[in-house]
Amino acid sequence: MQRPGVTRGRFLPLYSGRIVGGTLGERGWLGSGVDAHQHFWDPTRHHYPWLTEERATLRRPFLPEHLRPLLAQHGIGRTVVVEARSSLEETRELLQLAAITDFVAGVVGWVDLRDPALVEVLAGLRSAPGGEHLVGIRHPVREEPDRSWLSRPEAIRGLGVLAEQGLVFDLLVTPDQLEAALTAVRAVPQLTFAVEHMGGPAPDGPEPAWEAGMAALARCPNVVCKLSGLAIAGCERLRPLADRLLGWFGEDRLLFGSDWPVCLLSTTYDQVLERLDCLLQDLPAYIQERVRGGNAAHVYRLPEAQANLKATPSP
Ligand SMILES: [Zn+2]
Repeated sequence: MQRPGVTRGRFLPLYSGRIVGGTLGERGWLGSGVDAHQHFWDPTRHHYPWLTEERATLRRPFLPEHLRPLLAQHGIGRTVVVEARSSLEETRELLQLAAITDFVAGVVGWVDLRDPALVEVLAGLRSAPGGEHLVGIRHPVREEPDRSWLSRPEAIRGLGVLAEQGLVFDLLVTPDQLEAALTAVRAVPQLTFAVEHMGGPAPDGPEPAWEAGMAALARCPNVVCKLSGLAIAGCERLRPLADRLLGWFGEDRLLFGSDWPVCLLSTTYDQVLERLDCLLQDLPAYIQERVRGGNAAHVYRLPEAQANLKATPSP
């Protein structure tokens, strides 16, 4: 069955003229894959507190023109860009960027979930330039000192608003937060939760807290999982983690994401794709296509690549 947002087995021309932020891909078009997790940032314009000394190599602008050639090389035609500095200003900027960048199909922005005026805040974002690209919200729960932050009543109330608005909530958590995540998932069954980076497993192998937490989340039909954060280990060490996730979530609820440019701390975009290829190689082609793009397009309700055309006026 054809899913919304998915075109199987062929590539689509994205744009036949001038592309914002760079030149056309190698062959003049991008591909049918979806990268469901990437970031843009510009430390020359804004402060990113997590860009510390150890991450000095990431302290430079990473913008659409830097990602475009990598996508073209790997047949990826659409991306979901995820917030990186938890501010409404950034969310507005990412929406604007989506409006002028052909391959950015969705934005997972940030809002204060506890804001009593959340409905109005979301309406403001949606009516701003590029607002139609808002597909989800992330709050970096991983950084919250209270490991049960997600199960607080004010967070649950905010998640309920996201559900009413048809948005996805991206879950950035570590294994010790999976229990609170489960509470939130059960409290807001109408909301789709996308667990980022496989739920933060240790690279050395599945730990009991991660296994129990992720298996329980997977039993809830409103949870999907990003096969992202593949920079943590090579294919052989990732395999037991990926196999468990496939078993728990099944072929329809796993979404590939590169986590570019964060992945560049220890890998390259090419290596991340090599690891994905290695993890998926024994699966039937139709399942691979779902994980590589179909599922992300469906979960985030991304526009078709053709409908995602954004032309700049000719000079
Ligand atoms: Zn990320």
